[in-house]
Amino acid sequence: MPAEALVERIARVKARLADRLIILGHHYQRDEVIRFADFTGDSLKLARTAAAQRQAEFIVFCGVHFMAESADILAGPGQKVLLPDLSAGCSMADMAAPEQVEACWRTLQGMLRQPERLVPVTYVNSSATIKAFCGRHDGLCCTSGNARAVLESIWRRNPRAVLLFLPDQHLGRNTGYVLGRPLDAMPLWDPYQSDGGLSPERADRAALVLWDGFCSVHQEFTVEQIQRARAADPAVQVIVHPECRFEVVQEANHVGSTEGIIRALEAAPTGSRWAVGTEINLVQRLARRMAQRHVQVASLSNCPCLCETMYRIDLPHLAWLLESLERHCREPARTPLMNRVVVDEPTKQDARRALEKMLELTDAPASPTAHP
Ligand code: SF4
Repeated sequence: MPAEALVERIARVKARLADRLIILGHHYQRDEVIRFADFTGDSLKLARTAAAQRQAEFIVFCGVHFMAESADILAGPGQKVLLPDLSAGCSMADMAAPEQVEACWRTLQGMLRQPERLVPVTYVNSSATIKAFCGRHDGLCCTSGNARAVLESIWRRNPRAVLLFLPDQHLGRNTGYVLGRPLDAMPLWDPYQSDGGLSPERADRAALVLWDGFCSVHQEFTVEQIQRARAADPAVQVIVHPECRFEVVQEANHVGSTEGIIRALEAAPTGSRWAVGTEINLVQRLARRMAQRHVQVASLSNCPCLCETMYRIDLPHLAWLLESLERHCREPARTPLMNRVVVDEPTKQDARRALEKMLELTDAPASPTAHP
């Protein structure tokens, strides 16, 4: 079906369902989908927005699976979260399998002379099961925007705490380093090696044990790309996401979460030029927006650094989901609700504990950008 026809069909269903439906669009979503988003933002902001929109019975999350799970964890009673394509997952979230994390936890507790020092912390880019694991073990979540505040607050309360940081090694290492932890106090836990590849002595000396996970998009950025960008334009400002490798973050002029990058570019002086190390859909949108203010924005990489799983959400999937949702609303007994993401109640309670603990520690970030 041609794109114009799909656009028309999506717009028609959206208008008919009116307040019963909200559509959320993650910043990395493609343009033709994000134009239908009532709200845009990062994953946690969107989940909290969904929970605040109590009139909306259906929340269509144009993002990836863990984001829809977070929305379901925070959603109110009666709200249902739908994902246009259930195969839109996240390779990084998938790198921490629950049984591997349980085994790691037991082994690390056996290695530490004072096992009570161990605190699990998970980046919100993780499955509901991993968030629940952290909640059950008195741990918490963090985002790329508040990781520093979360880690700082744990160490302020207990300077001897050993953090098991899941699942992104780069965010953990970059944050630990900013907080004064040397690299050799942040060993990697490789779930495919016996004892994670760590000796008990090494584990006992650690401040942060880093799960061996990474984002396949942000890990693509390199120091050579920064050098090339500077050779081509010595005045260029390089800003990268903290999911990038340690050496890339060290070499860049600025580091910022998705929202942090947007804020930095919005505040950039007229005439400045930027090379940005994050997902390409966001970079291209920012480049168009900033061009109006004569701020030049380009990707740090020549290769399109695309979140391929996010890209699975497209117009055909959105149109199909909305039309089947409308059929379900008309005849609920005869038409099933498609692509609902449901987190079971015990997992939800534990995961919510980890999310709420983070919010208590760091206070909430600003509200998301309402999309016209
Ligand atoms: S950009 Fe990276 S962390 Fe984010 S959803 Fe895609 S693979 Fe996962």
